[in-house]
Amino acid sequence: MTTATMPSIQVVAPKAGAMEVRTASVPRIAPHEVLIKVRAAAVCGSDLHIFQYDESVRPKLLRASDNFQRGLIAGHEFCGHIVEIGSEVKTIMGDPKVKLEIGDFVSAESHVVCEKCYQCLAGEKHVCVNDKIIGFDRDGAFASYIALPSSCVWKNDKDLPFEIAAIQEPLGNAMHAAAHFPLKGQRVVIFGLGPIGMFSAVIALMHGASQVTAVEVSEYRANIAKEIGVHNVIMGKPAKTPQERADERARVQKLVREAAGHDGPDVALEMSGHPDAITNSVKAVRRGGKVVAFGLTKDAAFTFEDYSKDVIFNGITIQGIIGRRIYETWYKVRDLVRQPEAQKKLRKVITEVLPYTEFRGGMERMLAGKAGKIVLDFAKA
Ligand SMILES: [Zn+2]
Ligand SMILES: [Zn+2]
Repeated sequence: MTTATMPSIQVVAPKAGAMEVRTASVPRIAPHEVLIKVRAAAVCGSDLHIFQYDESVRPKLLRASDNFQRGLIAGHEFCGHIVEIGSEVKTIMGDPKVKLEIGDFVSAESHVVCEKCYQCLAGEKHVCVNDKIIGFDRDGAFASYIALPSSCVWKNDKDLPFEIAAIQEPLGNAMHAAAHFPLKGQRVVIFGLGPIGMFSAVIALMHGASQVTAVEVSEYRANIAKEIGVHNVIMGKPAKTPQERADERARVQKLVREAAGHDGPDVALEMSGHPDAITNSVKAVRRGGKVVAFGLTKDAAFTFEDYSKDVIFNGITIQGIIGRRIYETWYKVRDLVRQPEAQKKLRKVITEVLPYTEFRGGMERMLAGKAGKIVLDFAKA
């Protein structure tokens, strides 16, 4: 018997840039799994870490590839169609009412969770201690086919455009972060307009925030934000010396407060991880305001400028965010992407839909800050 083969984008060696299109075997499914023919897959910031072979992803890549005795198929944000269903498949995404059929248009949760640990049993699957992420810990979605446990599969509306269906996983991250505190009628400031920051802006606007301000250094991203409908974009300026940085922080805080009016914004979404932006997010919100902490810092340590005054006396709430609630955020994202106005805004964040063979150029443009979200088309794979 010959094994069917497929094209895939694999990490093939322990060095930067070692991603290639290679032939792989079409995966065989276990009884509880389904086989999905991939329609499109989106490129995530973490795929860029893989592309550059950053320290943060090395242990996972070495383990998943058996020290590069074989390549690892990357990719974890995608959509496709069911082509095979295992004999023991009963439920999808924990919902026994949803029946799965050949030809169904689906997306998937990227975290394959154990369903056995304390967190899983307590309804906190997003912090499962045994989770395996596709494209990191096991073969991913940058390929013609992917096998996945049916419990990870999310059934899409048939008419959902494929490029929107492919970005629901990161949209879930943004949803979990941005909608943690109520947004309706609130004045919101977003620090950092990477794809998740941009998605958060879409969510804030669609959820009825009365005013959205963003702080960003890239002109390219600022322009996309304006097209989405962000009310004010404050351009960050480069600052190096401690004095320059202090002056720049003071300038940005003043502008953020002025843009929001009253005493400052109600909610700050810190999506950049830059220490000055973290400081600004804490100092610029109004007394009693709320801060969502999402961006990861480069250095482990972070120092508050004036902890007692800025956090305690001002009575602010800081919430750290990881992943997305499974499956709660998938339902929220479905409600969002069903709205034509949201689709219109999300399309502006997706700046390119490329044939999968052109992934390298796309990733290089993302690294250079010359692209928003990029979707790879696998229709011809
Ligand atoms: Zn991702
Ligand atoms: Zn678990």
